[in-house]
Amino acid sequence: MPDVPPAFLVPARTTKREARFNIDRHLKEKGLPLTGSGLHIKRLYYPYWKIDAVLFKVRNRIDERVVSYDKNYNDDVVVENEKTDVSLTPYMTTLPAGTEMAGIPATIGLRADYLKMVPFSTENQQDEFDPLPLAKSWEEVRRTLNKRTNSLGNIVQADFGKNRTELFHPKASLVYFPYFVVESYPGKDYNRFVVDAVTGRVASHVTDRPQSDSFEYSEPVDYQPGQLLVIPHRCGNCGVDLPEEQSYIYICENCRQLAVLDNRADISAGVYTAETEASPNDLLFPFWSFGISQDQSSQLRPIFGGLFSSGRLVIPAFRVQNFDALCRLSKRISAAHPRLQLSLVEQFDARYKPVAVCSDEARMLADVFIHREKYQPGGAPAELITFRPTDSALFYAPFHPESYFYVDSILNAVTFERKLSV
Ligand SMILES: [Zn+2]
Repeated sequence: MPDVPPAFLVPARTTKREARFNIDRHLKEKGLPLTGSGLHIKRLYYPYWKIDAVLFKVRNRIDERVVSYDKNYNDDVVVENEKTDVSLTPYMTTLPAGTEMAGIPATIGLRADYLKMVPFSTENQQDEFDPLPLAKSWEEVRRTLNKRTNSLGNIVQADFGKNRTELFHPKASLVYFPYFVVESYPGKDYNRFVVDAVTGRVASHVTDRPQSDSFEYSEPVDYQPGQLLVIPHRCGNCGVDLPEEQSYIYICENCRQLAVLDNRADISAGVYTAETEASPNDLLFPFWSFGISQDQSSQLRPIFGGLFSSGRLVIPAFRVQNFDALCRLSKRISAAHPRLQLSLVEQFDARYKPVAVCSDEARMLADVFIHREKYQPGGAPAELITFRPTDSALFYAPFHPESYFYVDSILNAVTFERKLSV
């Protein structure tokens, strides 16, 4: 994905005839007269902003626990504990990007995640379908979105303090969705049908004649979509196919060159491993390690307690399902980092786990991690600190399974639950 939002187009899959057939069926179900002659049909692509982000949620609640004493002497006692839950959840939404037009749905919902799309270009536009101009800039939509998420925190009443919801790392793209806009005027009545041109379903039936659909008068927003690229899954050096297992980083099995599919990661010098002697039981888990700058060090040091001497913030590069666990693991491995002896990896083998989190996402997780640690439970939210690492590196650390846990094989000090890694 480019930095500038890219644009996609959903091709229409129904014909004018099918659209009309479905309108008539809709009218028949309602007991209304069917469409006659003199239909006015417009085919258009309506733009939506699709936003993917991460929601940071803080929920304050009172935990009640009934403690039973010896029945002969005491009644049960209810113990109340204040609890603050912090969680991260993926967030996706679509918002209208064109001017308001009566009958056009305000969102395309979850379909934005699974519909087949092609890049938005003149060649990909179908005959007689015209894209509507863009009326809302990404900046404008971002402001709406922030307001919306701030109000999300108030939906669930906090038992104490204040609940908060914050949006992290919003990424936008434009999706042009195809519609048939059909107008008919039986007698003096006005009818507008908006038909979803993917399923052929009648999305809306408007009977009040709109004052005007303002798209003809509004000034379109100037926008140049980000360039989409297709990167072949091959070694850039010798051209051999890379392993099928998905990862951001490979070492070519043929020429031993590092192949980095994460174009924002600065690890051309190589990746490191903390392994000392190979043990067949070990699994090598990847971690991003970021340098903490001098001026941020005084802000960040308290997070790790007084003994922290590492100067690096380490974030897992594999998926950890639970945010709490991710924070605990980050803390421990950051503190352990100075005691790990790192050497360059020459070749991967089956023990190396794939890199499933790219450096950008890891940096975002670092921001959220800091935000969470600075958060005053139940109190005012901490000031947002943007982490500005001096450098990034990727290293692998050996862990071995011990009953329900993975335990690090060097210090025997860092553990995490086995079921947490996906
Ligand atoms: Zn190669």
